[in-house]
Amino acid sequence: MTEHATRASLAPEYDVVIVGAGFAGLYLLVRLRELGLSARAFEAGTGVGGTWYWNRYPGARCDVESMQYSYSFSEELQQEWQWPERYSAQPDILKYANHVADRFDVRGYIQLRTRVEAALFDETSERWRVRTADGDEVSARFCVMATGCLSSAQTPAFSGLERFEGPTYHTGQWPHEKVDLTGKRVGLIGTGSSAIQSIPVIAEEAAHLTVFQRTPNYSIPTRNQPMTQDYEAFWKRDYAALRAAARQMPTGVWMDREPRSALEVPEDERDAIYAARWKEGGTGFMGSFGDLITNQPANDTAAEFVRNKIREIVTDPEVAEMLAPKDYPIGTKRICVDSHYFETFNRENVTLVDVKGAAIECMTKNGLVAGGNEYTFDCLVFATGFDAMTGTLNAIDIRGRGEERLCDKWEAGPRTYLGLMVAGFPNLYLVTGPGSPSVLSNMMVSIEQHVNWISDAFAYLGERQLTVMEPTKASEDAWVEHVNEVAYKTLYPKAASWYMGANVPGKPRLFMPYIGGVPQYAARCTAIAEAGYEGFELGRPQLETTA
Ligand code: FAD
Repeated sequence: MTEHATRASLAPEYDVVIVGAGFAGLYLLVRLRELGLSARAFEAGTGVGGTWYWNRYPGARCDVESMQYSYSFSEELQQEWQWPERYSAQPDILKYANHVADRFDVRGYIQLRTRVEAALFDETSERWRVRTADGDEVSARFCVMATGCLSSAQTPAFSGLERFEGPTYHTGQWPHEKVDLTGKRVGLIGTGSSAIQSIPVIAEEAAHLTVFQRTPNYSIPTRNQPMTQDYEAFWKRDYAALRAAARQMPTGVWMDREPRSALEVPEDERDAIYAARWKEGGTGFMGSFGDLITNQPANDTAAEFVRNKIREIVTDPEVAEMLAPKDYPIGTKRICVDSHYFETFNRENVTLVDVKGAAIECMTKNGLVAGGNEYTFDCLVFATGFDAMTGTLNAIDIRGRGEERLCDKWEAGPRTYLGLMVAGFPNLYLVTGPGSPSVLSNMMVSIEQHVNWISDAFAYLGERQLTVMEPTKASEDAWVEHVNEVAYKTLYPKAASWYMGANVPGKPRLFMPYIGGVPQYAARCTAIAEAGYEGFELGRPQLETTA
């Protein structure tokens, strides 16, 4: 394993500064090495891997199959790497990220344990001045935020939080050492994806688990299993073709997608299709019909199928009704997948508490009070998600032209051109930023597409001795309008989801990712680049610099 970059080796100037060393930052470094650009990546964690470095909670694993939730840029890598399970667990995904860092020899560019606090665009030199929490400052022509969409853990401001005397854990910042919950009374707040993955595992260990639920979630069984030779061989036989096919799917996940409307088929046939998808497991359930995300009556049929499954699995009818989502269409919050989640509520040592009707009032020394009742436990798990898509960017003091702050520009919600760049912030690039398919897609597909687009732009600028790239305000406005228009043709805005900023008090309510589909989006990005970066202003330096 090569050494990581150190503070001592920090140079004053780079071509590119990258913030974040998750899958986006790692792949960008691979591309920049090929282009021969000088780069430094700053990473707050003590290791690479991003999401898979931070989210070490029991049961953490991917919900896109590993054969697809992996890089496609290297044929050798995808042929040689062996995933142990259909949906790999966090330690295996982290191992993969580390393997990639070594195999492509990028560790030497990554400075760990370094949080970037500020990035300021200097209009005179037309370079970014990037400052770390250690007080170091470097300048770079380009600054790329590979900071992740789900990287700012969110803990609600419960009254009296500091009063609770036991240990607390956030799923998104889980300790590196094993947390032994054996024989403990555990309280767990939240029933989103991380909760759905961790609850079955924690329940096996804990003496008692009390789950506090505000909003129930639709979840489909993963049917996770050890990887079979046949399945691996199926993918590896012609990996490139299957990856290309995946990129043509709306979510970038290759699946068998039924084009018909759910309302076109007789009820018994429809239910048989849902039953087959349920048995197969995974997010492919949403591919049962072509209009589940756009047509409410069609969506109702899928939602009712899942609710009935919950009613079949959960033996206490009252608990089953609490777990069955009724207030929003299926798929309009990221669809969850699970291993025995609903079954877990049949265990004697698990209690479900509804905190929608009877909210959590305050924390106490030994637990919390909700609906006038006190619940006590030894430790508390926050599975309360993230300040998604904008939280991490807004936490950095990013200033563009005229010292305008990005968080001010985004006060009423994020504005970007293609989710890649922001008017008024030249040479600042976002990987999977708001306004791109990002969290609605297989992120590996979207990360690769963005990193390729960004590095191709660097090559284009370099070949023409152009040094400044910035979207026009008009192109940004038109894109934001398009993103909203497309979103409101779907059922997505009907759910109070983190896509809508609804999980963070005071956050503007608007649909942040782009729902127009991965292939349509990628084709548009390519066409824009081929037209000489339409909608962007490209310029030569006002002053020659030493870079
Ligand atoms: P991240 O992995 O989030 O990495 C960003 C890095 O930037 C972090 O390491 C962070 O420490 C660093 N950083 C941020 N701010 C700063 C700063 N100011 N200074 C220095 N460093 C900073 N997606 C899928 O497509 N399929 C899945 O199955 C899937 N499962 C998921 C499961 C969980 C539990 C979570 C939380 C997310 C999941 N995702 C999934 C989304 C996942 O985030 C992406 O797939 C992908 O890992 C994102 O990679 P990234 O490099 O863009 O960002």
